[in-house]
Amino acid sequence: MPELSRRLLDLQALDVEIERLARQIQQTDAALADELKIHAADLANRQAEQTLHQRQAEQKELEFELASLEQRIKTHEQHLYSGRGGPRELESLRRDIEHDQERRGQLEEKVLVAMEATEAARVERERIREATARVLDELAAQRQRLGAEREQLLADRTQRQVQRAQLAASIDAPALTLYERLRQRMPDGIAVAEVIQSHCEGCRTSLPSAEIQRARRTEGAVQCSECQRILHVPLG
Ligand SMILES: [Zn+2]
Repeated sequence: MPELSRRLLDLQALDVEIERLARQIQQTDAALADELKIHAADLANRQAEQTLHQRQAEQKELEFELASLEQRIKTHEQHLYSGRGGPRELESLRRDIEHDQERRGQLEEKVLVAMEATEAARVERERIREATARVLDELAAQRQRLGAEREQLLADRTQRQVQRAQLAASIDAPALTLYERLRQRMPDGIAVAEVIQSHCEGCRTSLPSAEIQRARRTEGAVQCSECQRILHVPLG
């Protein structure tokens, strides 16, 4: 009965489609669960922020050192210009001031270098902030697309599952059991094969015409004598 094999062939098409949809849903779920880029963006931002704080702290420390030194020079100069104290003490004071002034020059250089480093770290932090914001925006849009795709895939699968249940209900139990068993057993999951130009499409074997006639006329399912798949002979 070609009617039966036709229905089994349609059932198989639905099963193949349902499996394909399930795989796609799985892939979509995996893509949605992937938070690698989010973590990477977060890490890059935190590192840039940390570097900036470090540079700021270094700069502050040098500025503090410079301010203390300037204060000391000022105090020493006031003392020196007051003229109080013996010549030896004043001479020692003068040497201290000279030494501190030299040190001040070096410190000023260092502060300038530190300010540049802070500025560079600030620019870098902004660059990373903008770059990661762009990446995260793209990612958010992509996730939205994936979410919508997933909804559509789920709806499609439900629709196919309903169709499948209706079709399966119209097939008698022994044929359905045979179909299920073959689908599990066949390496490609193909249980129903069409007969095209006298060949079984499942195993490519050329079938004797008597076998084809039997498949065409028999009411139950007729299996290929070579591969055991259920044969469907298209009309005409
Ligand atoms: Zn075959």
